[in-house]
Amino acid sequence: MNLNYLTISEAMDGLRAKQFSSQELTTACLEQIKKYNKKINVFITVTEYLALEQAQIVDRKINNGDKLNPLAGIPCSLKDVFCLKGAKATAGSKILQNYIAPYDATTVKLIKLNDAVILGKVNTDEFTMGSSTETSASGATRNPWDLSCVPGGSSGGSAAAVASAMGFYSLGTDTGGSIRQPACFCGIAGLKPTYGRVSRYGVMSMASSLDTIGPLARSVKDIALILEAIAGVDINDATTSREPVINYAAKLGKGIKGLKIGIPQEYFGQGLDPEVAAITDSAIKQFKKLGARIVKISLTYTKYALACYYIIVPSEISANLARYDGIRYGLSKSEGDLLATYLQTRAQGLGDEVKRRIIIGTYALSAGYYDAYYLKAQKVRTLIKQDFEKAFKQVGVILTPTTPRPAFKIGEKNNDPLTMYLEDIFTVPINLAGIPGLSIPAGFTKSGLPVGVQLLAKQFNEEDLLRTGYAFEQATDYHKMYPIID
Ligand code: GLN
Repeated sequence: MNLNYLTISEAMDGLRAKQFSSQELTTACLEQIKKYNKKINVFITVTEYLALEQAQIVDRKINNGDKLNPLAGIPCSLKDVFCLKGAKATAGSKILQNYIAPYDATTVKLIKLNDAVILGKVNTDEFTMGSSTETSASGATRNPWDLSCVPGGSSGGSAAAVASAMGFYSLGTDTGGSIRQPACFCGIAGLKPTYGRVSRYGVMSMASSLDTIGPLARSVKDIALILEAIAGVDINDATTSREPVINYAAKLGKGIKGLKIGIPQEYFGQGLDPEVAAITDSAIKQFKKLGARIVKISLTYTKYALACYYIIVPSEISANLARYDGIRYGLSKSEGDLLATYLQTRAQGLGDEVKRRIIIGTYALSAGYYDAYYLKAQKVRTLIKQDFEKAFKQVGVILTPTTPRPAFKIGEKNNDPLTMYLEDIFTVPINLAGIPGLSIPAGFTKSGLPVGVQLLAKQFNEEDLLRTGYAFEQATDYHKMYPIID
């Protein structure tokens, strides 16, 4: 048995039954990293010592007959924008190349409290800006299903780690699709929770009004277990909600008989790859078979979502990234006066995509242009949000393709920002609306690349979202497939 290919719940059962130890699980993952990390370029930092020490602690608990926490002894990874005390946190940027995190992010603290085994930090687009993990200062990550393709992004390291069995799950971030799109490209499940459901404290910000944190894993049940561990109010993040956190995993099995699933016509138009369209259609048929009622709906403001996103996001980026000034964190090129230090540090430390967004954002926020761009985009954002609110009066869950196309080739879109931005067309409206979205595996293209579908629900209704995904997963085998890496 390949221990590192189990799901979290299967591994937990095995640990409890003493079929294997946490140290064995951890070693299996570390060996996989040693074997394939050069090829796929997933881990920026491996915290081997920390992982083995944590595994030993859990094994002792098991031998003592102690009750185990839901994630105890299970190896995982963190996108390199999470602070893990004492470990490097580069955010995929040269400007933070040697930055050591002085504290744990709230989510890291929470999984540590559950006795998680942290294997290390994985690759990301620079400051999470991108859809391919190619903008990282650590180089591009490859898709384990086809090494000539991107794994998606920006949580491409997280998705590739889980798909190639270098750990059971990974924590990522999603501002415009960065959990769902790589999960889709790598054939695994990924959840972007409701804005405010999971604390962002200790995770580097991109666009604060859209940033969310969530899990990537091999099954919906695993996603439910992780969400329960990381969700909840946090005194250090004022945007977190007091909405109660429920036992999501316990509610999965209720089935979806009579559930109304909305299909928004705007997500099935021009530009949708025929294979993705066919796979989405067969997923819809499967949901029908499971007892759901399929309802055609319309989300009319969808067509403005991408334009709106690419005004709001760069604006917030231009403010958030001002802190990397050569004085407080990481790289510092202190030549000449203060202004020269700012200019030199940022010119040398930041990559092209990050600079592009800072420039666009600064422009959109500047006096004279603010009303025409930023303010207008905020108004459109409200309309997009209302679109979803209206739709959820009619249906319980909405289904769309996660992305218009399957994984593309490394280098294919890297020099063409607009084509790259179009990759996010189905995922950004969800961040603008602040609702939860789940991508689950739904099939494969003829050339063997995974394709996913995206499920959406009302704010804080992760319960119905996960239940719907679980019902699909129980009836299909796509989530059980894994890539043969050559
Ligand atoms: N690809 C999108 C962007 O570059 C989303 C990024 C993200 O969700 N972090 O903005």
